Amino acid sequence: MSEMNAQTGERNASSLGQEIVGRINALAAISESPGNLTRLFLTPEHRAAGDLIMSWMVEAGMSARLDAIGNVCGRYEGEQPRSPCLMLGSHYDTVRDAGKWDGPLGLITAISCVADLNRRGRRLPFAIEVTGFADEEGVRFASTLLGSRAIAGTLNESVLATKDSSGKSVREALIEFGLNPDHVGAAARIRGELLAYVELHIEQGPVLEARNLPVGVVTAIAGANRLAARLTGMAGHAGTVPMALRRDALTGAAECISRIEELCRADDAGLVGTVGFIHASPGATNVIPGQANFTIDIRAPMDSHRKRGVNEIVRQIEAIAKRRNLALQVDVTHENRTVPCAPWLKQQVAAAVAAEGYGVFELPSGAGHDGMAMVDIADVAMIFVRCRGGISHHPDEHVDLADADAGARVLLLLIENFRPQDDGGAKKS
Ligand SMILES: [Zn+2]
Repeated sequence: MSEMNAQTGERNASSLGQEIVGRINALAAISESPGNLTRLFLTPEHRAAGDLIMSWMVEAGMSARLDAIGNVCGRYEGEQPRSPCLMLGSHYDTVRDAGKWDGPLGLITAISCVADLNRRGRRLPFAIEVTGFADEEGVRFASTLLGSRAIAGTLNESVLATKDSSGKSVREALIEFGLNPDHVGAAARIRGELLAYVELHIEQGPVLEARNLPVGVVTAIAGANRLAARLTGMAGHAGTVPMALRRDALTGAAECISRIEELCRADDAGLVGTVGFIHASPGATNVIPGQANFTIDIRAPMDSHRKRGVNEIVRQIEAIAKRRNLALQVDVTHENRTVPCAPWLKQQVAAAVAAEGYGVFELPSGAGHDGMAMVDIADVAMIFVRCRGGISHHPDEHVDLADADAGARVLLLLIENFRPQDDGGAKKS
């Protein structure tokens, strides 16, 4: 791409990629553990990261502030002050031992796009807001999307009493962060203030890489269920109880896990199932396990299909438990609906991808994102950027500079050509 030129007003897109990667590295240095990246909600490192992000926002010509739940909020005014905004963003908390791209890529890219507009003195018929969501991963308090829920006005304030593993509540952590927990409601926005919410994020899967594409257009954020299963049999001596008389809870769990995998593998409509945790007790080499607890995570791009999948999985593990004379208890611990990306907005994302010369490829998001909460206040869309090997939530997470740059160019074009839905956006083909 051409160099930045004040006369022609052309943007220097390749330098966007460089700026983004430099800032990704700067933000990744703010971690509570040396040697790896861990930045949890409302910790001192989280606060330091928020301050750095706000300094970039100000440098990009935005006003910047911390809202009542710890989201960082930047605003770039449109041609008219107080116009409704196109909101962009992503999260700035991480999982433990995280990669540095999950969250910050979308946030930093959005800031760089605004900085590019600002350098060219370009104002649009709408404002642009960039939000760094405070709590997407939900690692510290085991309750996700607190930042985006607060903005959408759907935060249940009972969450303030939730405690982390050290016994500190969200309320106490907010005070330590410098915020007033009695004011979290003030983070809520009004629907008419947002024209749309668009998030750029790494794919966190291998599909774009397999297709040899730097970017993709997200169709929907897949709904998910989490189940907690407990199988209870009878503990016994590993030497004295004959095999035929055993009620081994762990071998029962093993059969259930294999069956879940078989069912999902046989599905051709995107059903995915994972058992990510198992605990057997009493847990000794020479004791037949009397109890096994495990979790089941089930997702699909369509709610009806996911629900059918959940029902079938429960039916089959019930049958396994019965045949093995084990007691089974299954509890649904989490359920979220599928959030479709708005067709009118998705169309504009696709147009920007095509205009940058890339093939338009649509794919669902199997991972959760802040859009799941933002949909309660605005239409949402997402742009995925290719990541190496599909690896995420891991220090090896990587995005090539060229792909970061491609994502930035698509987002910038989307912003510059953005048309609100009631401005004919829905009718354009
Ligand atoms: Zn993320």
